[in-house]
Amino acid sequence: MEDLPRYQGLRRRLVERIQSKGIQDQAVVASIGRVPRHLFVDPALREHAYEDRALPLMAGQTISQPYTVAYQTQLLCVQAGHKVLEIGTGSGYQTAVLCELGAEVYSVELERRLYERAKVLLEKLGYRARLRWGDGRFGWPTYAPFDRILLTAATDRVPEALFEQLSEGGILVAPVGRSSHQVMTVYRKIGQTLSCEEKGYFKFVPLRSAEYR
Ligand code: SAH
Repeated sequence: MEDLPRYQGLRRRLVERIQSKGIQDQAVVASIGRVPRHLFVDPALREHAYEDRALPLMAGQTISQPYTVAYQTQLLCVQAGHKVLEIGTGSGYQTAVLCELGAEVYSVELERRLYERAKVLLEKLGYRARLRWGDGRFGWPTYAPFDRILLTAATDRVPEALFEQLSEGGILVAPVGRSSHQVMTVYRKIGQTLSCEEKGYFKFVPLRSAEYR
């Protein structure tokens, strides 16, 4: 698939922008610099793919702002070989960023059309993530436990199943809150206890239940 020099140039500028906004993790920065975001957005919006903003996907969903992707990924402290579960595949962009970090990525998406599109695209680009169509509030028990879990949709309470599927010493990052903005929250599982640290405010689409799709 094409990655024209023009897009490469725009991507370099995007990388500089997210660095200037405070993203310092070099592995995360390098991953953002490698993923061709223009292939993950709606073709009609391709010219905007390297602006630092969220863009609409089908079914009323959105591909997160690149800065938000970088911020969440940085908080997750992913190392090569980690098993990472993502809830909300959407376009597959964040999934690709996690693959670039050398993680073994599992991702669940509720919207069938998004799941199908992301699956085809990630395969075409050579990303070997495992994708599943279903309700991510139940995690993916077959492959649990996970070293890292990332929610890319907002919830007022992180589903218990996800904490259960987090490994000892694992980190879970989620935008938490029911209002129009959520607090990015980092949970760490230490023994049987969970520590919790609140970061900045963000705005995400809601984590839905299958009945209210
Ligand atoms: N990570 C995505 C951003 C997706 S937006 C990207 O990089 O493009 C959040 C996604 O979560 C949407 O695609 C939405 O359909 C999905 N979602 C909402 N509720 C869900 C649930 N219960 N289980 C799995 N996915 C869900």
